[in-house]
Amino acid sequence: MSHVIGLKCRECGTEYPAGIQNTCYECFGPLEVNYDWDYVSDHISKEKIAAGPKSIWRYADMLPLESEKRVDLGAGFNKLHRAERLGAALGLDELYILDESVNPTNSFKDRVTSVAVSKALEFDIKAVGCASTGNLAAAVGAHAAKAGLPAYIFIPATIELGKIVQMLVYGPNVIAVEGTYDDANRLASEVADSHPDWAFVNINIRPYYTEGSKTLAYETAEQLNWQVPDHVVAPLASGALLCAISRGYKELERVGLVDRADFKISGSQPQNCSPISAAVQNNNEVVPVRNFETVAHSLAIGNPADGYYAKKTILDSGGFAASPTDAEIIDAIHLLARTEGIFTEPAGGTTVAGLKKLVESGHIRKDERVVVYVTGNGLKAQDTLLKSLQRPPVIKPMISEFERLFAPKLDIHEQKAAIAI
Ligand SMILES: [Zn+2]
Repeated sequence: MSHVIGLKCRECGTEYPAGIQNTCYECFGPLEVNYDWDYVSDHISKEKIAAGPKSIWRYADMLPLESEKRVDLGAGFNKLHRAERLGAALGLDELYILDESVNPTNSFKDRVTSVAVSKALEFDIKAVGCASTGNLAAAVGAHAAKAGLPAYIFIPATIELGKIVQMLVYGPNVIAVEGTYDDANRLASEVADSHPDWAFVNINIRPYYTEGSKTLAYETAEQLNWQVPDHVVAPLASGALLCAISRGYKELERVGLVDRADFKISGSQPQNCSPISAAVQNNNEVVPVRNFETVAHSLAIGNPADGYYAKKTILDSGGFAASPTDAEIIDAIHLLARTEGIFTEPAGGTTVAGLKKLVESGHIRKDERVVVYVTGNGLKAQDTLLKSLQRPPVIKPMISEFERLFAPKLDIHEQKAAIAI
């Protein structure tokens, strides 16, 4: 007996045994992991989770691995911050941030990769790979190194230098492709087809890979004493992350770990590449975008694989989608850092900027308990941020120089202190 039955088509329901497959042979729909939820309900408990590893693997009963072949660098078990200062700045009573920048390779992609590379080991494959805008590449590089597997990573040639340095250090084969992420993804898919004993984490074993993202919902609910927030906000790229978070909350209700999963879910995507947000805002089809330029490279997917499902998930929940400009994204990075001490990359800036817009437009209410997912670390995108920061002033090492520089500011501080007394 296992908690995993196999794979199942999201569209027509055709079932398949667990294997290296991502598309239904009957209708070409996407496949999902098919769990025996009664079995899971009988074997899971809050106490068992609390006694588990301090990583995503504390939720192993709801993840698709059927052996102990875990490749665990410690992804997950991240702090849910009560964001009082950002909440006050935006006009929200109860705001929380789950900070993913502290994962082993500094983004949420460690969750999905840990699950995918572990499952790849279970399938006894010979190499792993991915198409990536940078964060996934680092995660795959690190987990492949830990597993002792060769890795083949396809990236668009234009991504941030900081991300390229990070992925190269783990020693994978990195192939920079002239073109967009969609071009790199298409080439990686062709390579996956010609090497059936290689596992491309976000391509041919995608059904297992996306399961890792559900743990964001599990971890949030556990830290809220097994309650589900009123409204959650996630970034949109392929759409898979948002769908997985939504699914995660519903599964907690299915297995009885929360009493009810009644929540809205909203997304945010950079305005210059926002096929899903536009579809939500206009309630029409997801139209692929080409020839775009945005600072949020890790969200720049013009043809989102799960766009249709992300749009449906958002609208069915009563949520909405935002599409902030690049300038608003940069401003939001500064706002988050200066109110909460969290330094995120433009993807996280997009989410916080989207949150701000959704509050301003009334789609998020002041009294809702809101959780925002900040998915990556600002240190990876320093070249983008440098342009929006002032270089520090240079002075001689003399107290008089310091006083001259700061005298106007110090006067204001002293006046404020006098008023307070
Ligand atoms: Zn099907």
